Amino acid sequence: MSLLQVQHLSRSFGGVRALDDVSFALPAGQLLALIGPNGAGKSTCFNIINGQLRPDGGAVLLEGEDIAGMAARKIWRRGVGRTFQVSAAFHSMTVLENVQAALLSHHRKLSQLWRPASAYFRDEAMQLLEQVGMAGQAQRACAVLAYGDIKRVELAMALSNAPRLLLMDEPTAGMAAHERNELMALTRRLVNERGISVLFTEHSMDVVFAHADRIIVLARGKLIAAGDAQAVRNDPLVREVYFGS
Ligand code: ADP
Ligand code: MG
Repeated sequence: MSLLQVQHLSRSFGGVRALDDVSFALPAGQLLALIGPNGAGKSTCFNIINGQLRPDGGAVLLEGEDIAGMAARKIWRRGVGRTFQVSAAFHSMTVLENVQAALLSHHRKLSQLWRPASAYFRDEAMQLLEQVGMAGQAQRACAVLAYGDIKRVELAMALSNAPRLLLMDEPTAGMAAHERNELMALTRRLVNERGISVLFTEHSMDVVFAHADRIIVLARGKLIAAGDAQAVRNDPLVREVYFGS
């Protein structure tokens, strides 16, 4: 069974069909890219899967359970992690404190723990930072980090609930080419080591073709192609949408 099955998902905003009967599946342990021009419906799809938006119709099955329309917190507890398109790190805190705060946020007795929080989850946070290659910068303020390093911290924060499925909306936006490839290589390592699945959006075709196991293409809310890099690159509809040929 696929870890994630999106079935006939639809969502409109006023007269705009942001998602129109979209279906796809993500097996465990795969890196799946969701691409498409601006306004194609990528973020809408992500926000339905993570519970920020309700669909008008369709289902989102996580290991067979329909999570569509569930509260975001419940979906998060079921092991769906996410990174944000806009930075979610607190810049006034250190790298270590940011990841500790993410771990702490899952704790049931959050208010009681907040004051002595600096002692909590220190080892767990350091482990996560090690996995994203940021342990050596744990005590620096996030404000002084390079952009690519902030993204690594956010990845560690997203891993704090031990997700089975990780959603990354444009994780490499604003990065230089080498930083993009480093972040995707790191993501691949996490997929292999943790056995998680990743669904990500990405603008650069080079990055998608180099790093994704499978690619699905949206245009104006509709799924127009799905397959590996080779198939998608040669798909006539995709060529028309992207290259006008
Ligand atoms: P993408 O992430 O692929 O760029 P989006 O999912 O953000 O696309 O948007 C898909 C379409 O839905 C666009 O036409 C966008 O303007 C519209 N849309 C998205 N979110 C909203 C919203 N909250 N209110 C109104 N329209 C929206
Ligand atoms: Mg978007």
